[in-house]
Amino acid sequence: MSEGKLVIFSAPSGAGKTTIVSHLLTLGLNFGFSISATTRKPRGTEQNGKEYYFLSVEEFKNKIDQGEFLEWEEVYPGCFYGTLKSEVERISKNGQNILFDIDVVGGSNIKKYYGDKALAVFVQAPSIEELKNRLIIRSTDHLEVIQQRIAKAEHEMSFVNLFDIVIVNDKLEDALLEAEQKVIQFLEKNSD
Ligand code: 5GP
Repeated sequence: MSEGKLVIFSAPSGAGKTTIVSHLLTLGLNFGFSISATTRKPRGTEQNGKEYYFLSVEEFKNKIDQGEFLEWEEVYPGCFYGTLKSEVERISKNGQNILFDIDVVGGSNIKKYYGDKALAVFVQAPSIEELKNRLIIRSTDHLEVIQQRIAKAEHEMSFVNLFDIVIVNDKLEDALLEAEQKVIQFLEKNSD
């Protein structure tokens, strides 16, 4: 389906992958960001069609029934997230590489589907304790949501073996540099 290369970033929430993904988008590596659909409410300054396509549960379920998703997950109870096939097509048609910021299940599924065309990167926080601190400092979510995310993070760690590489986000500058190097290496290798 895709003509370009795919780079997938997955991680437990709060590991810092969104910061890394945003950084990679500024480097002129010809990436299009795969804008996912979600049923969660926008946070902060998030806009429809920029960070996500914000849908109602009904709209999301209609798209599932119509076979419009490449993959989708109920990432949190009642909260759906998915990659639209139309999104992958849109970016491919632009002649761009595709950058995904998705959960570990979706990420490992896309990796399985695309094989060597995809680089799957697992971003890990140094510890669960640190993850907890980061989610609390960000504090854009209610405490109940934060607790849900921490419990889930522990389970998500077990998917790490399905990924090509692991980046431990201890110091952000180091993680950004490592991500940059690994992604450039992958893009160059595959374009031979
Ligand atoms: P957040 O609500 O913090 O933006 O995202 C919650 C989780 O859902 C993150 O791990 C994020 O990467 C993941 N996610 C975002 N888009 C998708 C998607 O299209 N598919 C799947 N499976 N997960 C997604």
